[in-house]
Amino acid sequence: MGVLNPSDFVNSTDVDEEIVRLRRRLARERTARTTAEGIAERGLRALYLSQQRIELLHRIAAKANAAADTREALSYAIAEICTHTGWAFGHVYLADETNRDLLVAPQIWFSANPEPLMPFITESLELQFARGVGLPGRVLDTLMPIWLVDLGNADNFLRRDVARQCGLHSAFAFPVCVQDEVVAVMEFFARENLAEDAQFLELMAQIGVQLGRVIERERFTAKLYFDALHDSLTGLPNRALFAERVAIALERRERRPEYGVAVLFLDLDGFKFINDSLGHQVGDDVLVATGRRLADVLATQAAAQAAAGADWPMITLARLGGDEFTVVIEDFDDEAAVHAVANAMLGALAEPHLVDGNEIHSGGSIGLAFAHKPGATVQGLLRKADTAMYEAKARGRGQVAVFDKVLQQRASTRLQTENDLRGALRREEFQLYYQPIVELKTGTISGFEALLRWQRRPDELVAPGHFIDIAEETGLIVTIGSWVLREACEATARWHRRFAHRKPVTMSINVSPRQFLQPGFVEFVETTIRETGIDPATISLEITEGIAIANPDRAVHIMTELRALGVKMSLDDFGTGYSSLGHLHRYPFNTLKLDRSFVLGLGEGSDRIGTGIVQAVLDLASTMNLSVIAEGLETNRQRRHLRGMGCEFGQGYFYSKPVSAESAELLLVNAR
Ligand code: C2E
Ligand code: MG
Ligand code: MG
Repeated sequence: MGVLNPSDFVNSTDVDEEIVRLRRRLARERTARTTAEGIAERGLRALYLSQQRIELLHRIAAKANAAADTREALSYAIAEICTHTGWAFGHVYLADETNRDLLVAPQIWFSANPEPLMPFITESLELQFARGVGLPGRVLDTLMPIWLVDLGNADNFLRRDVARQCGLHSAFAFPVCVQDEVVAVMEFFARENLAEDAQFLELMAQIGVQLGRVIERERFTAKLYFDALHDSLTGLPNRALFAERVAIALERRERRPEYGVAVLFLDLDGFKFINDSLGHQVGDDVLVATGRRLADVLATQAAAQAAAGADWPMITLARLGGDEFTVVIEDFDDEAAVHAVANAMLGALAEPHLVDGNEIHSGGSIGLAFAHKPGATVQGLLRKADTAMYEAKARGRGQVAVFDKVLQQRASTRLQTENDLRGALRREEFQLYYQPIVELKTGTISGFEALLRWQRRPDELVAPGHFIDIAEETGLIVTIGSWVLREACEATARWHRRFAHRKPVTMSINVSPRQFLQPGFVEFVETTIRETGIDPATISLEITEGIAIANPDRAVHIMTELRALGVKMSLDDFGTGYSSLGHLHRYPFNTLKLDRSFVLGLGEGSDRIGTGIVQAVLDLASTMNLSVIAEGLETNRQRRHLRGMGCEFGQGYFYSKPVSAESAELLLVNAR
C-alpha cells in the first residue's frame, strides 16, 4: 500500500483522485482475498462432503450387513439417503419374484415430511412398472442410474402431473443388482431443480452394490432353507416339512377337539412299471406332472369353495419320496370335505400324462386316516393312512380307503404276526416239509420241493399262506429265506450221500421277490452250495412272474448270474399272473410249473378250453426246451391226461402231500 505525504495535499482535486484510486485498489484486493478464501473453503467443503458421503456408504453397508432381511436393509438405506441429501421422498421397487420384467412396490419408503407429498407417495406405492416403462422401468432395463433435473418436462415419467401438484422437481434412481440382474430400483425426489451430480450417482451405485449383496445372501439362505424342506424334483414340501405341518395341526387339535385333522396317502398305480420299462427320466417327468396336477386341483377346489362362500379346510400337499404323495387336511368339521379332496385328486390323475409323445396312464390309490382320539401322532397317522392305501390298492386300484376298525384290527394282527415271526426265528420254530416231484411216465421220484412250515405250537403247524406275505412286507423273509435255502441244501446233500446209488434227487426252493432282489443274494447261493458241497445242477430256484414283470432287466441279470453258478431256475405258478407267453423267452428259465388251476379241471368233459390251453403251453414249452411240472395233481385221471399230452413231471396230493424230512427219506427208501 502507498504512503501519503503532507506535501501531496497541495491540490484538493489531486487528493480526491488519489482517494478514488486507493478505494479501487482496496476493493480489488478484497475481491482477490475473498476469492482466495472461497477457493480454500470450497476445497474444504468438498473434502467434508466426500468424507460425509463415504461415511454414509459405510453406515449403509454396515447396517445392511447386520440387517435381518432385505426389507430392513432397504428401509434403512432409503431413510439414510434422504436424511443425508435432504431429498423429500425416497422409495423402492422390487423385481417381481415370478416375473423379472416387472417392478412392484413392496411399500418401503421414507419422507421426513410426507404430509404435502401424500398424493405422489400414494400413487408411487400403487404403481407397477414393466421393463422400460417410467423412471424405475428404465433403470430396470438399462441397469444404469438416471437423474431427472426437471420432472415437469421429463419424457417417459408417468407421475409427472402428480409430481407437479406436490411440488417435486428433481429425481434420481439407481439399480440394486445381484450379479447382472436388477432386483430392486431405488428412487428419490426433491423439491428443488437440482443439477446432476456424477460423483453422487457414483456413490449411489456403490450403495446399490452393497444392498445387492444383502439380497443375494438372503436369497441364498432362503434357498438353503427351502431346499431343506422341499423335494428337489417337484418343489413340493418334503417329509420333514410335512411332518412339521401335521404336528402343528395335531397341536391345534389338542387345544380345540373340534379342529378336524386328516392325513391322505396317495401312491401311484403301476409307477414302478413306468420307471422300469420307460426309464427314470420318464418316471421323473410323470412325478413332476403328477405333483403339478395335484397342486392345481387342490388350488382350484379351494378357490371354487371360497367363491361359493363355503368353509374349506387348510390343505398341504407334500411328496414323501418315490411315488408317494401325502396331504394333510385340517380345520374341517365335516369329513365329507376330506372325501371331496381325495376324489378330486383321483380325478386329476384320471387323464393320461403325455411324456415325449407317449400317453402314460398312472392313476393312484388313496388311503385316508382321521385323527379321532386325542394323542394322535404324526407317525401314527401316516402309518394308518399308508395301511389304508394298501387296502385301496388291494380293492383294485384307483380307490379311496379309510383306515377304520376293520383295518385297525387287521393291522394289529399283522403287527402281532410280525412279532411272532421274529420269535419263531429266535426259537427255531420253522421247519421244511418236502413234496415229491414225480416223473409221470415211470412214477419215480425225481426230486422234491421244499415247503416252509411254522411249528407254532406242538399241535399247530402253520402253512406259509398265513405268514409269508407279512414276512415279505416286513423284510423278515430275507432271514427266513436264507434259513430255507441252507436247510434245503443240507437235506439235499444228506440224501445225495444216503442214496448215492440212485440218480441224485433235485431240490426246488421257493425264493420270494424281496429275497431274490436283495443285494448279495447270488453270493449267498454260491456260498451255500459250496459249503454244503452239492451239485448246483440239482438245485432249482422257484420264482414267480411278479419278480420278472416288476423289474425285467434286473431279474434277467440276477437269473443269468445264478445260471452261471450252475443253478436251475423255475417259473412258479405259471398261468396265475399276467402270464405272457411271448415274453418267456427273455428269461433263462429251465422249468415251468403249471399252476394247479390249470390242472384242476383236466379230464372233465366240460373243460375243453382248459385242456386246449394246457396243450398249447406244453407245446410252447417243448419248443423252448423247458421242462414242465404240473402242480396240484390230485387224481389219477389228471395224471393220465397230462401224461397223454406230453407233460413230463407232476407234483400233488395224488403222489404225496408235503411231508417231513424223515418221511421224505422213507419215500426214497421205499422207492428202492
Ligand atoms: P407253491 O410254491 O406253488 O407250492 C405249492 C403249494 O401247493 C404248496 O402249498 C403245496 O402244499 C400245495 N399243494 C401241493 N400239491 C397240492 C395238491 O394236490 N392240491 C392242493 N390243493 N395243494 C397242493 P404250501 O406249502 O401251503 O405253500 C404255499 C406257497 O407258499 C407256495 O406255493 C410258495 O409260493 C410259498 N412258499 C412255501 N414255502 C416257501 C419258502 O420256503 N419260501 C418262500 N418264499 N415261499 C414259500
Ligand atoms: Mg413253489
Ligand atoms: Mg406253485
